Parts: sequence; structure tokens; C-alpha cells
Amino acid sequence: MKQSPEAVRLDMTLRSSALVAGGFMGDDPRSVSEVMDADAGALSRLGVTAGEVAARMREITDKAATAESTWVEIDANREAVVNDTRGSLPCPWPHEAWFLKRVTTLRRKDTGKTVRWSELNIHMIAAHGFFEGKGSLFRTEPADLVEILF
Ligand SMILES: [Zn+2]
Repeated sequence: MKQSPEAVRLDMTLRSSALVAGGFMGDDPRSVSEVMDADAGALSRLGVTAGEVAARMREITDKAATAESTWVEIDANREAVVNDTRGSLPCPWPHEAWFLKRVTTLRRKDTGKTVRWSELNIHMIAAHGFFEGKGSLFRTEPADLVEILF
């Protein structure tokens, strides 16, 4: 399928390293819309929406951010830590939106599994349904994210 000029431009922006090291697509050969469609399908099989995933990430980050760089108990099975690297980052989509560079790491105490995300990840999942391409620094498979979040 031929992509619109807007989609081609977005694809190029997300693949460039101008904003984050390695870009947002890693070494994923798929188009941005293919990545988003596949992740939307995975979420629907898991029975959650991108909005619910992002809302849970927001809730955990807000709770952990009450004590910077310190593990905070989220509930009986989960703890999280927020590390602020200072500065902010714009959303790569063509709209004006900036996000703190701080990173949240969430750990499940029962399985020991961890995931991490940035403020921008929460926004890109909530607003754009975008989890980044495979091989990018902050890609988390929707299934892994959901397993640890809920
Ligand atoms: Zn955005």
C-alpha cells in the first residue's frame, strides 16, 4: 500500500536519531503504521486498550515520583523507581508536546521481571498507540508490558 506523504515523513522522523539515540524504530523493517497495527492487534488479544495501559503507567509513575531515585512500593507485587535525567524531549509527531526525560522502572516482586518507560512512552502509547519499533532503546512488547503492569 502506498503511504501518504505525511506517513512517509513521520516514518523518517521516527527512524532518525535526531531526538533519541538510535531513533524510535530501532532496526524494525516494518513501516510505522504496520508496527502500530500489529501492537493494536496484540493489545486487543490481551483484552486491554492502549488508554488503559497508559493510564496504569501514569498511575505508577506518579506514585513512584513521590520519592525520586528510590524504590517505592506500588502494591503487594510491584515496586517502581523514577530516575530523572533532567531535560525534556518533544513528541516526534507533528504537534507541540514536550515531556520530561525521567524514566520509570517497574519490577514485579513475584517474577522479578522489569519494564521501563519514559514520559514520552506514556504519551506515545496514549495518544498515538505507538510502542516504538523492535530494537529501539525503549521498545517494550505490549504483552510483556501488560503482564507486568496488571
Ligand atoms: Zn504526540
